[in-house]
Amino acid sequence: MANPTLQTCCVVGGGPAGVMLGYLLARKGVAVTVLEKHRDFFRDFRGDTVHPSTLELMYELGLLEEFLRLPHQELTKIGGIFGDFAFTVADFRHLPTHCKFVALMPQWDFLDFLSTRARKFSNFDLHMQHEAVDLVRDGDRVVGVKVQTPDGPAEIRADLVVGCDGRHSVIRKAAQLELIEFGVPIDVLWFRISRRGNDPEQLLGNFNYGRALVLINRGDYFQAGLLIRKGSFEGMKTAGLDAFRKTLLQIAPYLDDRVDELKDWDHIKLLSVQLNRLRKWHSPGVLCIGDAAHAMSPAGGVGINLAIQDAVATANLLSDALRDRRVTEDLLAQVQSRREFPTRVTQRVQATAHKAFDRLFRNPGPAKPPWQLKLAVRIPGVQRLMARAVGMGVRPEHIREAGVGPIENAA
Ligand SMILES: Cc1cc2nc3c(=O)[nH]c(=O)nc-3n(C[C@H](O)[C@H](O)[C@H](O)COP(=O)(O)OP(=O)(O)OC[C@H]3O[C@@H](n4cnc5c(N)ncnc54)[C@H](O)[C@@H]3O)c2cc1C
Repeated sequence: MANPTLQTCCVVGGGPAGVMLGYLLARKGVAVTVLEKHRDFFRDFRGDTVHPSTLELMYELGLLEEFLRLPHQELTKIGGIFGDFAFTVADFRHLPTHCKFVALMPQWDFLDFLSTRARKFSNFDLHMQHEAVDLVRDGDRVVGVKVQTPDGPAEIRADLVVGCDGRHSVIRKAAQLELIEFGVPIDVLWFRISRRGNDPEQLLGNFNYGRALVLINRGDYFQAGLLIRKGSFEGMKTAGLDAFRKTLLQIAPYLDDRVDELKDWDHIKLLSVQLNRLRKWHSPGVLCIGDAAHAMSPAGGVGINLAIQDAVATANLLSDALRDRRVTEDLLAQVQSRREFPTRVTQRVQATAHKAFDRLFRNPGPAKPPWQLKLAVRIPGVQRLMARAVGMGVRPEHIREAGVGPIENAA
């Protein structure tokens, strides 16, 4: 095994939480290493939404102008079609942020952008193809990570290890942190299908015939997601691709000239949806944030936003202490107490949405929009309120230049 290298902070996972945390700690002068098990950021679809609150952070970091030069689409409203009832859920045009839209951008572009800026700091290291396999302990305290690298096993010692390694986190498992699972009745099938200029643009979904189909505008194609009853994918495969294409056409007949693009089940990827949360996000020397601390459902497309907000809160609360090498477990607990409330609220809303999907699955015929939906979208201000909830989330974080400060209780 190579000689252990010492870092002040070792971040495991180069997703939205890990790369944002690495960037923020580096700009505050903390020696930080981010480990990512993949060779690059280019892999399966994991959400392309950059929310107004994240764009506001980019503004606060002075990166917004440059960031928006990357190819993206701007979504000022989110709507859906329930049966034949078209509705708008959220209207972002009135948000008190610099960007009054959700930017749709491939996640790898976002991660590439941020990691390139982070690399400009000499105290930042990003190691691709470095997979954390276990923690290193000294008595009860975590003092580093065991890593599989292209050159063989290695050890990275650090004052703090932050698990940002997503919903199958190795770090939370190695730290023996207790996970609370919430049952989820849905899975999602993801695939691409061509887009034409006159197609409707419905990020939230088309709800009909016992199904929900999400179509995210990615320019010349849709990133599509079909919500299905959990565990039903194998049965759909047995029924065959033709039946699958027919299902799509029932919900979105305008895809008629394109469903044949789906020639193989390899084009269709299953996401087993999870909703869970750690009881305690930390133990001495280790902290988990993002999906590693709380796996989010794709419902509402807010998981990336929450992961980034966790990273900002972590950097705000810990960067001074990390630089001075005096991180205590009490400080780690402050990160959890700051971020647990937004997580609980968001997961509760997602669980409610799952129940609504479950009711939809029970009716395989043409969907009738619930009267509550028809009424709600007519109430003045509802779309603005929803825009705030989706676009900014609960308790949005801001870049705090002064470092560690008092915990704010405002939601
Ligand atoms: C199919 C799908 C669609 C989604 N759609 C949306 C959406 O539209 N909008 C939205 O906001 N959210 C969406 N989500 C949720 C969103 O992707 C997550 O909530 C968000 O990515 C969490 O960010 P994270 O950084 O915590 O974890 P992740 O994005 O999961 O990143 C974890 C990173 O850690 C790396 N890693 C894992 N294990 C190790 C290890 N042992 N060593 C080193 N590296 C490791 C992984 O390769 C990965 O890069 C979607 C999720 C999925 C799966």
